[in-house]
Amino acid sequence: MIYPWGTERRLNAYSDYFRRHFGQRVQKITIDAGFTCPNRDGTCGTGGCTFCNNKAFNPSYNKAEKLISEQILQGMAFHRKRYRKATQYLAYFQAYSNTYAGLDELKVLYEQALRVPGIIGIVVGTRPDCVDEEKLDYFQELSQRCHVVVEYGIESVFNRTLERVNRGHDVETSIRAIQETAGRGIQVGGHLIVGLPGENREDFLEVAEVVSSWPLSNIKFHQLQLIKGTAMAREYEESPGDFMEFTMESYLQLMMEMLEKLNPAFVVERIAGEVNPGMGLREGWGVRYDAVLRNFEELLEKHDSWQGKHFKLDI
Ligand code: SF4
Repeated sequence: MIYPWGTERRLNAYSDYFRRHFGQRVQKITIDAGFTCPNRDGTCGTGGCTFCNNKAFNPSYNKAEKLISEQILQGMAFHRKRYRKATQYLAYFQAYSNTYAGLDELKVLYEQALRVPGIIGIVVGTRPDCVDEEKLDYFQELSQRCHVVVEYGIESVFNRTLERVNRGHDVETSIRAIQETAGRGIQVGGHLIVGLPGENREDFLEVAEVVSSWPLSNIKFHQLQLIKGTAMAREYEESPGDFMEFTMESYLQLMMEMLEKLNPAFVVERIAGEVNPGMGLREGWGVRYDAVLRNFEELLEKHDSWQGKHFKLDI
């Protein structure tokens, strides 16, 4: 069967999106451009989100003190070992809040990345309260000449959870930023965490339904990974009953049900995350992401399930 996104795969996969639009694999190269975050420096909060430790996700070639071009070239060399044929790359401004500076300063950083041969666009990870009209107008203009995605950390669609994790913004702010970005024709990514404290199975299924009505282009799900030393790791040690525990099998089962409710137009970038070795508090699944995705697609096949199987337009 050919699904609405034009392939036989049971989800609208990120790698297929690039093959469709660019005719080949496109690899993302992560960058730490030295930003901080308004939820850490006191502008909207201090201490940050209780789950946050950016070091747990950054690859070793990302060091804020290195030039952006140097990080990109090292990232390209790293990825070439695995994906020999990749010749096109996106610069992924990932660490902290990558729109948290004046526009002139931002332009210098983004343009540095875009000047590296092989870079065909940028993906800018940020908080939904860290954009304004001026910055969005700039992204709109930039997206006329290269591939641009603004990726928002949504994390949860429930204000009670956002408050509990000290997120420093509410869901209305996420919706507004997504609408204003998509309204300018800019691609919008959304990042969500599955397993934040106080949320349960029904909540996660509701998340899939709620976000499906938003004008997102891409979506990324990460299981909650408790990073040693964070406030959330301490909270877990005090009240483990507030957190859902997932084996890989139970997580994939839940993700399958979420995927069935998900808007089939969304490109699914990830269904799970990975942290750097030794940083997680709970035992990991012991497999790389490629294997997790393979297991997931086998599960979809076994249950004759696919993205959007139960998607309702009238939400
Ligand atoms: S907004 Fe991002 S960088 Fe800032 S504290 Fe939260 S997770 Fe960390």
